Amino acid sequence: MKRNRKVKILATLGPASSEEAMIEKLHEAGADLFRINMSHASHDMMRTLITRIRAVEARSGRPIGILADLQGPKLRVGKFANTKVTLTPGQTFTLDNNEEPGDENRVFLPHPEILSSVKVGDRLLIDDGKLALKATKTDGTSIVCTVVAGTSISDRKGVSLPDTLLEVGVLTDKDRADLDAVLATDDVDWVALSFVQRPEDLVEVRRISGGRVGLMSKIEKPQALERIEEIIELSDALMVARGDLGVEMPIQMVPGIQKQLTRACRRAGKPVVVATQMLESMITAPVPTRAEVSDVSIAVFEGADAVMLSAESASGQYPVEAVSMMASIAHQVEQDPLYPSIIYAQRALPEATGADAISLAARQIAETLNLAAIVTYTSSGTTGLRASRERPNVPILALSPKVQTARRLSVCWGLHCVVTHDATDLDDMVNRACRIVADEQFGKPGDRIIISAGVPLGTPGATNMVRIAYIGADGQSAV
Ligand code: PGA
Ligand code: MN
Repeated sequence: MKRNRKVKILATLGPASSEEAMIEKLHEAGADLFRINMSHASHDMMRTLITRIRAVEARSGRPIGILADLQGPKLRVGKFANTKVTLTPGQTFTLDNNEEPGDENRVFLPHPEILSSVKVGDRLLIDDGKLALKATKTDGTSIVCTVVAGTSISDRKGVSLPDTLLEVGVLTDKDRADLDAVLATDDVDWVALSFVQRPEDLVEVRRISGGRVGLMSKIEKPQALERIEEIIELSDALMVARGDLGVEMPIQMVPGIQKQLTRACRRAGKPVVVATQMLESMITAPVPTRAEVSDVSIAVFEGADAVMLSAESASGQYPVEAVSMMASIAHQVEQDPLYPSIIYAQRALPEATGADAISLAARQIAETLNLAAIVTYTSSGTTGLRASRERPNVPILALSPKVQTARRLSVCWGLHCVVTHDATDLDDMVNRACRIVADEQFGKPGDRIIISAGVPLGTPGATNMVRIAYIGADGQSAV
């Protein structure tokens, strides 16, 4: 299966898309990776979904990335006696440590650390900001607030604290248990960390996960932006988590932050995913709004590695249509006459390494000679990441002997990942590259390709070779 676009699609699985047949349809429609949302999936469900995704993968022959998204310190209020209450702006409403069901005057907040860290004047935003409260009095066990805007609150709604630096780690007890279950499957490629606030959060999780999964930091707290370069450095990838970010920050700042984050990640050569509400209206309608089409297009023009679907694919009425729509928007944008120059203008200069110098040279040679494809041999994935960072105008085939590397790289812009044995010698490397390009229908006999690799093969980070080759009549190299 060959995609006709560079940007990848990450689709969230949920009640609308947990059956194997549906997962297969989403993959065929264009989903390159799947997100399992640990806020909602039980450990049994997670394992079932992994088994189903791997079955789809085996049939399609394409490596599929799996991302487990940890809930993180998402704060929620307790329950109400009658599920929901109506409030009036200007009235007093209290959050406290009393487990009794809530009413018009108060509700339980099951997070003692929050009750003690909120200060007078801090804002508390409930239910993605639909209800805004301001703290007027605190005593360590309760927060008395004034209702600033909004008129209702109901069971277990989320609470955001844009003005408060929380003295909580990035992993809650639930996250630790979820992470253990994820690692125990030995079959998950990426773990997403919600509400990362500081670089130390990554150090802590890396201590537990080692190199077994890639770590994707979800940027959804203003505090994370203050130390974003360090966070990018310690992460394997980033997600622009616009849902919570748009609650924690003034919503009009989100587009600019998205641009800064995509650019910073492209410079660092770390994959970046743009997420949330991309085709939101397709939860209940078979076609998106013009504004949504434009939103997806902007992320593609920015050179994001992947775009994400949340409820659209997890619980909406049109999961397949949403994936197809995203794929066709991406394809159209990438055919736009302005697309190459926009991508090129945002390109980052190479760092002084063999991998970057060779990725740049490979792109220039491929574009100058109008070659059919760039082929990189990548064992750890580093050469693949650097080739993708160069954002060349021709397809990149990333060949790896490790299925784990191929799956993890499936999030990267422009990489078509193929699992193959390491070449035995230079001839085998060239022949194998030609044959795979032909087999995967990126080139035909008579076309030329460029190959980059580190010789001897299998030496991590030792990219030191480029070679131009002709595809011969038999699919092997002609010279
Ligand atoms: P969520 O993260 O869907 O897990 O909340 C994405 C976001 O906040 O945008
Ligand atoms: Mn979020």
